[in-house]
Amino acid sequence: MIAIVGGGASGTLAAIYLLHEAASRRTPLRVALIDRHGRHGLGQAYSTTHPAHLLNSPAATMSALAGDPEHLTRWAAEAGLAHDGFLPRRSYGRYLSESLAAAERSAGPAARVSRITGDVVAIRRCSHRPLRLHLAADGRIDADAVVLASGNLPPAAPFPVPPDRYIADPWEPGALDAATDGSPVAVLGTGLSMLDVAIALTDAHPRTVVHAISRHALLPREHSSPRPAAGVSAMPAIRATSGTLRLSRLIREVRASTAARPDGWQEVVDALRPQIPGLWAQLPEADQRLFLAHVARYWEVHRHRVPPATARRAAALSSAGRLSVHRGRVVAASDQHGCVRLRLDRGRSTATELAVGWLVNCTGPASDITGTADPLLRHLLEAGLARPDRLRLGLDTDPRGVLRGADGRPAGDIFALGPLLRGSRYETTAIPEIRGQAAALARHLLAGRSAVRPGSAA
Ligand SMILES: Cc1cc2nc3c(=O)[nH]c(=O)nc-3n(C[C@H](O)[C@H](O)[C@H](O)COP(=O)(O)OP(=O)(O)OC[C@H]3O[C@@H](n4cnc5c(N)ncnc54)[C@H](O)[C@@H]3O)c2cc1C
Repeated sequence: MIAIVGGGASGTLAAIYLLHEAASRRTPLRVALIDRHGRHGLGQAYSTTHPAHLLNSPAATMSALAGDPEHLTRWAAEAGLAHDGFLPRRSYGRYLSESLAAAERSAGPAARVSRITGDVVAIRRCSHRPLRLHLAADGRIDADAVVLASGNLPPAAPFPVPPDRYIADPWEPGALDAATDGSPVAVLGTGLSMLDVAIALTDAHPRTVVHAISRHALLPREHSSPRPAAGVSAMPAIRATSGTLRLSRLIREVRASTAARPDGWQEVVDALRPQIPGLWAQLPEADQRLFLAHVARYWEVHRHRVPPATARRAAALSSAGRLSVHRGRVVAASDQHGCVRLRLDRGRSTATELAVGWLVNCTGPASDITGTADPLLRHLLEAGLARPDRLRLGLDTDPRGVLRGADGRPAGDIFALGPLLRGSRYETTAIPEIRGQAAALARHLLAGRSAVRPGSAA
């Protein structure tokens, strides 16, 4: 039995690749796919039902199957879904769920997946089975191996917040419902999630206005129309000399490639992206920290781009006065007679005050896993089954994704994939990276399993 904790894109892709691997080896397999919200196949990103919440990457790059890049676009055509290259995220959730069901059909009955709705709060080693997972509602699941696919850390509140008017994570089920009463809303952060929240809230009530706030007021750039392949990579492979790479050299090389293609910076960013996990591992820790402190915000707005339709919606909301972007740092928030009063420090210009009905946190995943309130992650860290990576962005693993315990040794039977690997790979949250990790993990987990002899029990 392999237990996967988290039924989002990472857990679902892991289950799909495990089924494919089991089918090709003709080996029996049982997988438990456990999700605390029952959002199997959907997770945080793909459970939205709003039709204007689009994929931020072209469908052509989002196939679940690395060996079949047109799998998603073919599925969309067969499902009769018209699109301009960017599918609604809810359709992608349906695609992942159907891809899992198809993998089950082709691997079954010897290989099966049970979808379990439950909150895993602890993992313990016990004598008769290597691992026992404890659920919040008193259930237990025994497993030979566990794959942690629990996703991003929830955003952390950057200052004391008024609890009754604060939405800590817009992607929790039903999180935005209260904020659809027509009162003004402040959103912390000016990235992709802010745009989705602004679209959802202004659609839900005709009077709602949204104030988006971030220190640099940087908005995600827009995707350009696809252009014909140039024939040579927009970003040649960067090789470190004697195993070490410096951030300054990386920035120089990216600038040179961008200068050589003044109209094609998008191609440079896209060509650099698959190299990032390898390059990140070669940067000294000091340079990784420098990148996080000063460069990451510029990389993110160029790397995570919006589809043209989303850019048009945002422009229309701005010109209608329903979306304003503010540069500044919120230094205080107080609840005054049912409204939130925010004080913004805007550097050299004068401080500003904003009065809103709701405050939504879209600042992205928390940057220190040791401060997490998540019961399972806290338990793993406290029990010494896991340790933070050196930047504390996620968990420390070996190159195969095996969790390292408090003593630094890989345990061998607990694995992680997706956003939990941010510290060691940096680019690890999007589908192309996750499907690569899921495929490698499935091969590793089923390596050495023998085929079932004809006539033997599954
Ligand atoms: C709004 C948004 C848009 C995105 N758009 C794109 C895009 O266009 N293209 C792209 O490539 N990537 C996109 N991404 C990034 C990427 O696809 C997601 O980050 C990816 O879906 C991560 O999936 P995950 O399964 O690791 O995490 P999640 O989707 O968060 O799933 C984790 C699941 O685990 C469950 N869970 C956590 N802990 C436990 C526990 N202890 N017990 C049981 N269940 C647990 C959670 O409830 C959750 O359902 C987007 C991300 C977001 C947030």
